[in-house]
Amino acid sequence: MAEAAAPQKPLPQPDEASEPFFTGAMEGRLMIMRCTACGVARIPSRSHCDNCLSPDFEWEEASGRGTVHTFGVMHQKYHPGFFDELPYNLAVIELEEGPRLSTNLVGVENSAIRVGMPVVVDFQRYDDVALPKFRPA
Ligand SMILES: [Zn+2]
Repeated sequence: MAEAAAPQKPLPQPDEASEPFFTGAMEGRLMIMRCTACGVARIPSRSHCDNCLSPDFEWEEASGRGTVHTFGVMHQKYHPGFFDELPYNLAVIELEEGPRLSTNLVGVENSAIRVGMPVVVDFQRYDDVALPKFRPA
């Protein structure tokens, strides 16, 4: 019997709607959607604007800057792919452009994370996908 592979983290699978976001991430660019009807920005890949329900939008590169809106530190084992990293943080970042993005903070001790902390995007690459993580600015 073959030895079982180490558990992997679940990773997002880009689809047609989110492909520009993930292509941008591989290039180190944080892509957001901007409603062309009302100008409100949103994170991918929502089909309609939360503000005016228009389906019309353009992709744009975000600044990559934001602040910690809220966060939590996970101590419980939920998925084997994360066991080695316990305790790890989950954070919601409010981007400078307005949308909020769920992610992890890197380059900071969990005990030093604060709501309102200025952060900047820091892409982490996993095989053929890159994910936007954030570190203190
Ligand atoms: Zn809109």
